Amino acid sequence: MTNKKPAKLSAKDLEEFQVLLNKLRSMLSGDLTQLHEEAFGQNGNHDAESKAGDTADGYYQEFNLRLMERDENTLAEVLEALDRISAGSYGQCEGCEGAIAKDRLRAVPYARLCIECQRLAERWN
Ligand SMILES: [Zn+2]
Repeated sequence: MTNKKPAKLSAKDLEEFQVLLNKLRSMLSGDLTQLHEEAFGQNGNHDAESKAGDTADGYYQEFNLRLMERDENTLAEVLEALDRISAGSYGQCEGCEGAIAKDRLRAVPYARLCIECQRLAERWN
């Protein structure tokens, strides 16, 4: 009873995550060389690397670089998350069927499990 459950996603939230997921999808399905150029400047100038940290896109750059390491797997997860948005089941935990917290979805937009179920799953591994 005292357990405070995260609120379900509104249509506006879903739109936000759909935009985010589509962005991830195009980053992940794109050529990695191109992705690298986007992260460090398209002019091919070596000085661009030092400037990269100053841009407002810093968050996405960091995201990009992290995703490069496991892009294939992540792309599949992103595509499935987009399917779940179309199917209306996005943001619902596959373990307990509760709502996944928005903060968690912002960090991992393709999360299938709520934080509680994720913890349990990791314990079983
Ligand atoms: Zn759960």
